Amino acid sequence: MEMTILKVKKIYDGTRKGEIPEGVLVFDETGILEVLPGWENAPVSRYEQAGRSVAVIDARDVCLVPGLIDSHVHLMMPGDGMKGEEVVSTMSQGEIQLVAGRNAAQALFAGVTTLRDCGGIADVTFSLKSAIEKGLVAGPDLLVCGSPITSTGGHIHYMGGEADGEEEIRRLVRRQKKRGADFVKIVATGGGTRGVVVKGMNLTLPEINCAVEEAHRLHLKATAHVNSTKGVETVLKTEIDGIEHAYFSAFDGTVDYQKREAENMVKKGIVVCQTLEVMEPKVERLGKIKNRTAQETQEYDRLSLFQERLFEMHRRMIEDGVSFIAGTDAGWNECPFGRVWHGLKKMAECGMSNEELLYSATGKAADWLGISEKRGYLRAGCAADFLMVREDPRKDISNLRLVEQVYKNGIRIR
Ligand SMILES: [Zn+2]
Repeated sequence: MEMTILKVKKIYDGTRKGEIPEGVLVFDETGILEVLPGWENAPVSRYEQAGRSVAVIDARDVCLVPGLIDSHVHLMMPGDGMKGEEVVSTMSQGEIQLVAGRNAAQALFAGVTTLRDCGGIADVTFSLKSAIEKGLVAGPDLLVCGSPITSTGGHIHYMGGEADGEEEIRRLVRRQKKRGADFVKIVATGGGTRGVVVKGMNLTLPEINCAVEEAHRLHLKATAHVNSTKGVETVLKTEIDGIEHAYFSAFDGTVDYQKREAENMVKKGIVVCQTLEVMEPKVERLGKIKNRTAQETQEYDRLSLFQERLFEMHRRMIEDGVSFIAGTDAGWNECPFGRVWHGLKKMAECGMSNEELLYSATGKAADWLGISEKRGYLRAGCAADFLMVREDPRKDISNLRLVEQVYKNGIRIR
């Protein structure tokens, strides 16, 4: 098997501070063999003497970053503004499956080598995961939850995860696990599904508690979709591991920040995936229209206000030491796949350091997702998943958009 010795300007190894100047990465399809500082230390002759065929790639003007991890996406959603209800009523499951495949490929080409799908039609995400694992289609590694646990008629019920009462919830968690779920997603509060009280509770405390307990019994992590302060308070009464969105919102959508609850998150070791840029692509698009209709203006104002409030919550949570991992909510609304840098840029504007942001999209996410033995880091023993970027992402996190090459399991993708 041919092996490759890659020389680059710098290697970010996935740890918070790890920066290797004049980096040398030695890898083959089985994984990373060595990571060394100093081009002169490239062990070409050592491997050749051992009878290996060695290819040397000189890329001294690029930075190397571990393959990115997007910890919140919806593969089944087209990301063109179509609502979930519309997707399931106007598209066949075959078409939805193709959309999911396209999304996965799009993410991979942008350097995202691991995706955590936070909810979809179970058949679609489980099938895609298995097709990628078999090598039938190209895509990132997937961590999937199948259908999120929701109440009858509750938020994102069209993904197929309706259950009421503790018995049904327990059974649904067990079914998802049987299908191959890597984690459990609990829809604790409402959201933008037709007929749902947006900021209302979607499940009761005993129901949420029971889903979390059942996940833990099965050695799975549980994360909750939460879009209100009431929801944050409720899930923090359980042993939940992660929170998606974690909006500190009152019933009317105004900011209702509770410092004590944020501190409680820190104390409990909870990781938040806030999906900061979920509405940003739409705000950007509407912002560019010269002569907006009254309806467009109304939508633009509403979403701009939503963003403003979200950024305020995010800033305060950073100040209070809440721990974040990177997630886009790609697929939802008009949010595209592969644009992880865009959300990270927003987080940087709210006060997070580039160092911490890069970590939140690589090693930290891998640690939290339980995949760091192989993913998230550039060190011996890990898979050779990485991207080459033209400019230094530690100087400006949006440099992650300047992707030159992507490698997955040691194979060049682009
Ligand atoms: Zn989502």
